[in-house]
Amino acid sequence: MAHYGQPAPGYGAPPQPGYAAPQGQPAPYGAPPGQDYGAPAPGYGAPSGQPAPGYGAPPGQPGYGGAPAYGAPQVDPAVLAWFQAVDADRSGRISALELQQALTNNDWTRFSIATCYGMIGLFDRDFSGTIDINEFGQLWGFINQWRGVFSSFDQDRSGTISHQELHTAISRLGYNLSPTFVNIAMYKFDHDRRGSLNFEGFINCCMMLQQCTHHFQMKDTQRSGRGQFNYDDFMYAGLICLKP
Ligand code: MG
Repeated sequence: MAHYGQPAPGYGAPPQPGYAAPQGQPAPYGAPPGQDYGAPAPGYGAPSGQPAPGYGAPPGQPGYGGAPAYGAPQVDPAVLAWFQAVDADRSGRISALELQQALTNNDWTRFSIATCYGMIGLFDRDFSGTIDINEFGQLWGFINQWRGVFSSFDQDRSGTISHQELHTAISRLGYNLSPTFVNIAMYKFDHDRRGSLNFEGFINCCMMLQQCTHHFQMKDTQRSGRGQFNYDDFMYAGLICLKP
């Protein structure tokens, strides 16, 4: 008999065949093992053969995602300038409140505090509620990538993308997920039940994809599209991926 916390044997069994890529085909998302947290793995960002849509710095600018922890000279000056502008209390770290102020001041879109907590949470490994400049640089890269994909679908500047467009957008971001998954994702993030996502809804969807995939990848070190989770692993991942 099974108790809470002691799942019955079989919980840890490998996922059903067909969970990921069909046999003989490459995994639906491919990245070499050892990719750093946060930075989207190559292949996540774009279908093979296409450049990643607007991820990170424009071509020709130095990258900033992999900068050393301390005294990093590689930090993009633009990121540094943004960081200093956003860090209103000069703490050297960015909080959700500071992020919300910055995004509002940017006059680009207005984010709820819950979304800002989610953004911080993507990188807040020590649960301090704040991120440092390198993590901020990675977050900025993500936002730019998501904005690029969103804008490419929102040609009429309606500020929304449709259900069908969401499916293509998710695919363009490099995630190989079923129409059923997209249906539910639309339902989860279309809070106003308009049948479309605004930019913030799309951002929240992208954060979910990033978080869940990251946690899956930690159990799929061979990038086979399969991973073994025991009950506690699964519950932990679900807890971390919850919106704040
Ligand atoms: Mg601060």
